[in-house]
Amino acid sequence: MKYGVFGGTFNPVHEGHLHIARAFKESMKLDKVLWIPTKIPPHKVAKDLAQPDQRLEMCRLACKGEESFLVSDLEIRRQGKSYTADTLEELHRIYPEDRFCLLMGEDMFLTLLNWYRPDVILRLAEICAVPRSVGHEAEMEKYAQGLRARGACVTVKRIPYLPISSTEIREAVNRGDSIEKMVPSAVEEYICRHGLYGKGGNGN
Ligand code: ATP
Repeated sequence: MKYGVFGGTFNPVHEGHLHIARAFKESMKLDKVLWIPTKIPPHKVAKDLAQPDQRLEMCRLACKGEESFLVSDLEIRRQGKSYTADTLEELHRIYPEDRFCLLMGEDMFLTLLNWYRPDVILRLAEICAVPRSVGHEAEMEKYAQGLRARGACVTVKRIPYLPISSTEIREAVNRGDSIEKMVPSAVEEYICRHGLYGKGGNGN
């Protein structure tokens, strides 16, 4: 089987995530996409971070009805920080016969060599990236060349991106604005019911 591995903070999961996961699935001919919410994001400062179980549950709600999407609590259960290299090693132990494509957007892709044990990541997965802005394709391709020079298999897919971010959604909720078009309705209801990202900082 060929698995897409889609890690992220998913704070909250949004339509931009769903869009690229679907597009990667089609274009990379993936059998399954494993969504893996991270426990403590090592690559970014966590502001207004909802609880791990809440982010996991929102991913489950977003992926409901998508047969090939599986949501995994592998990083949330693991002690300490969530590192992609550790996750890929664990996945290889669990699924020794299978192949893994690590899915990510431009912002994460362009920092990949700063992640923990990058050469382990490059050895254990094909790197699949999509743009998240206009005009940075050449920069992405140059970065891809550098990764390939280290022996990595890298694909930069020209999938049109949706200009949505979790930050924008948290800000909209905090202002009291609608997030209807940015997240699936079940996720919107969950955010509302649990009072996440509101002025009182309930999402922290
Ligand atoms: P935040 O605004 O809190 O930083 P985010 O919207 O970037 O969050 P993450 O959960 O950090 O969401 O992203 C998980 C992965 O999805 C990353 O690889 C990121 O680059 C990618 N991604 C997120 N949103 C988009 C988008 N709109 N288009 C393409 N890739 C995206």
